[in-house]
Amino acid sequence: MKSVNIKGRKYKVIWTDEIGGNSSIAGRTKMVLKEILLTEDKDMFEETCLTIIHELMHAHLYECGLVEESVDESMVSWFHVNFFSILNSFLDIVKSRYKDNEADLKNVQHTLNRFIKGK
Ligand SMILES: [Zn+2]
Repeated sequence: MKSVNIKGRKYKVIWTDEIGGNSSIAGRTKMVLKEILLTEDKDMFEETCLTIIHELMHAHLYECGLVEESVDESMVSWFHVNFFSILNSFLDIVKSRYKDNEADLKNVQHTLNRFIKGK
């Protein structure tokens, strides 16, 4: 079992064969219990990645105090579907802007690491 830090809260990440007695559910986040349950189908790595993003979105919204939004499946689904596309566009812009200057690139790397670590 692993845990992840979500806005200062420790969420257990639990890999399981089945969630709530339903083998077709790929993930569930229990915000009050601070648990993220995930099923794994090794033949569906892409689906698993999208499910992880989806469940993290639920938890992040909740921990930011956006309780109603945290259970809005259409918004959370929109985010997991678009997450990597947004990230790719972001990186394209940053790389094209700061590609020629090593000091700028180090600053970009430092800033991105801070964003990723949430500090
Ligand atoms: Zn969901």
